[in-house]
Amino acid sequence: MQGKYTFSIIKPDAVRANHIGSILVMIEKAGFSITAMSMLQLTQIVAAHFYAVHADRPFYKDLCSFIASGPIVAMVLEKDNAVVDLRKLMGATNPTEAAEGTIRKAFATSIDYNAIHGSDSDQTAASEISFFFPSRKLLVKQPAII
Ligand code: GDP
Repeated sequence: MQGKYTFSIIKPDAVRANHIGSILVMIEKAGFSITAMSMLQLTQIVAAHFYAVHADRPFYKDLCSFIASGPIVAMVLEKDNAVVDLRKLMGATNPTEAAEGTIRKAFATSIDYNAIHGSDSDQTAASEISFFFPSRKLLVKQPAII
């Protein structure tokens, strides 16, 4: 059973290029509800923690500098099968391999500047959500008032 939530970041390249609105439209049109959102800039220390899983990779230092280089938009997204479906909508890590209709095909300019992050598993989603939105439990959507 796949979870209903995932975590996503609109990365500094896409924020700088004024693509926040267009990316949110693609996310909502794909059936996701945005249940929490925050615009912020990471410190180098937080960036190093966020990408710690890549600490041994040659691109780690550049990756941390890039994600901390400007404002980002952090979001919790809700949908059945959220993690897998967001990764499909994001497209391949390298935009030259990203399918037509994906966010990276439309907005990524390189493997380093690839516009969007999405959690890679339900476990990662849970830890990324609680890291960025510690009060997430308070943000459960209320039923519509009739
Ligand atoms: P994602 O889930 O598609 O974002 O990919 P990963 O979680 O594996 O990697 C995190 C980020 O590191 C990616 O979005 C890329 O920006 C970067 N990255 C991953 N693999 C490479 C690589 O082989 N070379 C470079 N330069 N960057 C990479």
